[in-house]
Amino acid sequence: MSKLVDLVGKVKTSAQAKRVCLALAKHYGATIQYGPTSATVKTLAAALDAIGVKDRETFLYNCAITVGDVIYLPFKLGPSAWTPAQQVCIVAHECQHVKQGGDAHLLFWLRYFTSKAHMAVFEVAALSAEMEVYWRLTGYLFDAKNLAASLSWYGVGKKDIAVCAKHLAIVENTLQRGGEVCDQIKVIAKALA
Ligand SMILES: [Zn+2]
Repeated sequence: MSKLVDLVGKVKTSAQAKRVCLALAKHYGATIQYGPTSATVKTLAAALDAIGVKDRETFLYNCAITVGDVIYLPFKLGPSAWTPAQQVCIVAHECQHVKQGGDAHLLFWLRYFTSKAHMAVFEVAALSAEMEVYWRLTGYLFDAKNLAASLSWYGVGKKDIAVCAKHLAIVENTLQRGGEVCDQIKVIAKALA
């Protein structure tokens, strides 16, 4: 296990967050775009609204999504309602999806949103990364149960959420014992060095 670098409080400004987010995107071979004005995201938002998964506006302005190697954010990098640490967490989460080999085909995403067990498997890895990054940047540990419950936003059922909560509880324990669970943190530490 590598020695942990203390990163708490190191991402305080939106400029720092932007630098780290761009470093993450570069490391994983992704580009970052603003979602609400993207034709791809607007099409997906309309489709999800039509099949009753998610309200169009809520999706556009609250959800990040990765299609292929493009990360679409619901905010513009820089000053925003999202705190600098939140911005980095979201990008770290989406970089996990880039690593998972996000399919560029919109049909993939429709399947993703309509097969809840499938979605849960993908999301638990991304939520683990999000949990670690927020912990390392702020010293605050998300509650595993609450984090897993966020999947209900996408209609994931109680059984799958319970499995995810167990996984995230293990991650929580690992982090508290000084362990590392994702490699995004190394990229972040390097960008802040
Ligand atoms: Zn995700």
